[in-house]
Amino acid sequence: MKVIVTGGAGFIGSAVVRHLLADADCQILNIDVLTYAGNLDSLSGAFDNPRYQFSQTDICDAAAVAALFAQFQPDVVMHLAAESHVDRSIEEPGAFIQTNIVGTYAMLEEARHYWQGLEEPRREQFRFHHISTDEVYGDLEGTTKLFTETTPYAPSSPYSASKAGSDHLVRAWGHTFSLPVIITNCSNNYGPFHFPEKLVPHIILNALQGKPLPVYGDGSQIRDWLYVEDHARALCKVVTEGKLGETYNIGGHNEKRNLDVVHTICELLEELATGNENSRASGNGFKELITFVKDRPGHDARYAIDASKIQRELGWTPQETFESGMRKTVQWYLDNPQWSERVLSGDYRLDRIGAADE
Ligand code: NAD
Repeated sequence: MKVIVTGGAGFIGSAVVRHLLADADCQILNIDVLTYAGNLDSLSGAFDNPRYQFSQTDICDAAAVAALFAQFQPDVVMHLAAESHVDRSIEEPGAFIQTNIVGTYAMLEEARHYWQGLEEPRREQFRFHHISTDEVYGDLEGTTKLFTETTPYAPSSPYSASKAGSDHLVRAWGHTFSLPVIITNCSNNYGPFHFPEKLVPHIILNALQGKPLPVYGDGSQIRDWLYVEDHARALCKVVTEGKLGETYNIGGHNEKRNLDVVHTICELLEELATGNENSRASGNGFKELITFVKDRPGHDARYAIDASKIQRELGWTPQETFESGMRKTVQWYLDNPQWSERVLSGDYRLDRIGAADE
């Protein structure tokens, strides 16, 4: 099988590439333009693998994407490339509209032209898998409800609105052109190789440097947390066994308040960082660094996923609990300071200039 992964240098995309290289017998073409969120350090083991190719390409560049389809001849597209940080979408929404909507449109069109030219049985077997977020469903404040695959869309931020728009395009290309599409909507991911602007790595790295641990508002916002490798396993299951045209919600059954996530990280650091050579902070008192900051505008209060469909139909359940996944994550940041240092210093971006196609 030949798999195009878009956004494969990002947090979840790199987990998918690592998972495919370790556990599946397939050829991979990673298409990633390498924005600030793309980091080739997260794929250092992949570049020597003959089953892996990389192209530094913008998914909005339709001609370049068409050439890659023609050259690589994929059986499957796993589309993860996106702008993904809500705060950035509030500051500068334009890039979100461009990559998440226009870029997804370009991917769909080039996939459609390529797919229409395929012979059977490859035409019937082709899949376009769009990876999306639970944020498209909006806010569950004050309810005990869960997001199901039929929950109406009500996105709140420019990020979630742009992802909702991309989901609608993917469904329309499925209905109108019969392009074989599948969509997954997943809850908040955490784990190794996560860019430090996101809550979990930001808190870990600030704590290790003895810096304030910023928490929005009163920290009562609830999210459902999933370990990134569980997400990668779910995506590979959906793309190989999922039903055409279907949507699958993916979640960790781990609803936690943001403040409780921060407390868990502090407690794990108190246990794991003591005496660790990479910790500049002492092994206790991390919670004293917590600082409440002005809430994000339009901040949704609660997201919670009903992941029973993927469990029932495809037999997927997360392997990590919140506690085991968070422990692995904290330990990974302690064991891999060079990854974080290169991100924080900006050095990880130096490689991208020479990161031509291979
Ligand atoms: P990320 O920001 O870490 O990575 C995005 C990747 O896409 C980067 O490598 C970036 O260089 C690349 N990219 C951005 N614009 C591009 C363009 N125009 N052309 C080519 N490549 C481009 O994001 P992530 O957290 O890995 O998320 C991946 C996908 O999963 C996104 O679609 C996101 O909406 C979705 N998702 C994320 C989460 C989460 O918790 N992080 C949860 C559910 C769904």
